Amino acid sequence: MSEFSLIDFYFKQRTQKREDVLLGIGDDAALLSVPPGKILVTSIDILISGVHFPVNTLASDIGHKSLAVSLSDMAAMGAEPAWVMLALTLPEEDKTWLKGFCQGFFELADQYGLQLVGGDTTRGPLSITTQVMGFVPVGQAVLRSGAKIGDKIFVTGSLGGAGLGLLVAQNKIAVNNKNPLNKLNRPEPRVVMGKALRGVASAMIDISDGLVADLGHILTASSVGALVHLQDIPLDEVLKNTMPLKEAYSLALSAGDDYELCFTVPEAKCEPLREIFAEFSCGYFCIGLIEEEQGIRVLDEVGNPFYVECLGYQHF
Ligand code: ADP
Ligand code: MG
Repeated sequence: MSEFSLIDFYFKQRTQKREDVLLGIGDDAALLSVPPGKILVTSIDILISGVHFPVNTLASDIGHKSLAVSLSDMAAMGAEPAWVMLALTLPEEDKTWLKGFCQGFFELADQYGLQLVGGDTTRGPLSITTQVMGFVPVGQAVLRSGAKIGDKIFVTGSLGGAGLGLLVAQNKIAVNNKNPLNKLNRPEPRVVMGKALRGVASAMIDISDGLVADLGHILTASSVGALVHLQDIPLDEVLKNTMPLKEAYSLALSAGDDYELCFTVPEAKCEPLREIFAEFSCGYFCIGLIEEEQGIRVLDEVGNPFYVECLGYQHF
């Protein structure tokens, strides 16, 4: 199959068609129409085999995850995703792999009504780059920089499940449960929740590098600090039952790939949260408070400081 028929067969024919796409796959560039009164929001992520996913990860899981991580960035801005571009570097034209990849990728794309509008395809060591584009009404994007002293800090879902999944994938730990690997390979981007938090959250980020590292980005951008109560952190259920509690909390605070949202809310806007999250099954949890003193202080149930060793994965 030529490069062009491969693109046509696997990608052009599979994707949804949206009215705001004037020209999609097939020309030198795509032509896209942003609705009036809205701002274009865009984010790009590279996934490299052996770095962002274990080399033996299923193609369908890679397809899902490569889109999920970009959608999670849209969620963290309060944006509504619309379009995606896909740059693929493949070692070979492996039909089974491509079929699996597309299955995972388009299942998630269809769930959010996304159209694949272009990309690039090259030969080389496996890597996947996805650029998602979406909209947010003018002035309503939720930035990292808006946290204020006295705001409460929340997280969605639970933490540490993907971190445990990575240990399982690396054969460092054995569990009799599929959930940790699912958490690692099939993160559920909190797109609908992020959008619902517009006008409520003062600052927001998605947890891709671990709670301490990512909350740290909110604190730096907002020039504030945080007090976090260890016992209020929602631990992944399997993790809780697999490791001593201290180690479990350590992993929940430091491991990446959970793709939950971490956000701050002023006291006066905490009441509407209950109603907002009533529709969602993921749940939300208050884990602490924004303070004037810079940095993060994590306290255990008796008020002693809890130290976290690893502060997120750094590529350089
Ligand atoms: P160019 O040489 O102008 O970069 P390409 O031959 O790379 O064009 O791509 C042809 C068309 O196919 C373009 O519209 C491009 O956006 C699209 N395309 C290429 N690879 C992919 C892909 N992996 N997914 C979606 N669209 C793709
Ligand atoms: Mg090209």
